[in-house]
Amino acid sequence: MNLVLFGPPGAGKGTQSKILTETRGLPQLSTGDMLRAAIAAGTPLGLASKALMDKGALVPDETVIGIIAERYDQPDCAKGAVFDGFPRTIAQAEALDKMLAARGKKIDLVLELKVDDAALLARVESRIAAGGPARADDTPETLKKRLEVYYQSTAPVLAYYRHQGKVKSLDGMAAIPTVTAQISDILEGMAV
Ligand code: AMP
Repeated sequence: MNLVLFGPPGAGKGTQSKILTETRGLPQLSTGDMLRAAIAAGTPLGLASKALMDKGALVPDETVIGIIAERYDQPDCAKGAVFDGFPRTIAQAEALDKMLAARGKKIDLVLELKVDDAALLARVESRIAAGGPARADDTPETLKKRLEVYYQSTAPVLAYYRHQGKVKSLDGMAAIPTVTAQISDILEGMAV
């Protein structure tokens, strides 16, 4: 099964993806993690992406489409994957559909984690208060920019998947185990 976890930055996509990896054996394909790994490794792709990421802008579609295709062809994705933080634009969603179709696969489900912006900012501020930001782009200023980018470029992707009848929405403000339980219920009901 191929799943997309959808929602603004800080909605809990990464947390729920990791739980799905543990409980369902579906690898988490996070473009943000892959880009941070490329930066840490000092690759040309990492170097080219760093400035954009640090300011909360998106990296080019071709960059993330390329790394996702390469990662998806690894043997551990044979039974599907959880896409986390990808696709973030309509062009990425179309490219993902094409990539999967070429492999006889498709997106089965899009889980939307709904959250409110004020609460997201409060979460980042409390993370910083608790010991400084863990990531260069984890500051209130950059989060505001990332939210803007989300509403402008990424939110339309939801309509794209709604049109395909694939979206299920969840309250991302609920406690982590509650969200996990709701996702489980949805997956049980799908029988894929
Ligand atoms: P994330 O860890 O998913 O919040 O991503 C961190 C940053 O990486 C984003 O703010 C973007 O700069 C970049 N990024 C991650 N995924 C994508 C994507 N699918 N398209 C464009 N940029 C991305």
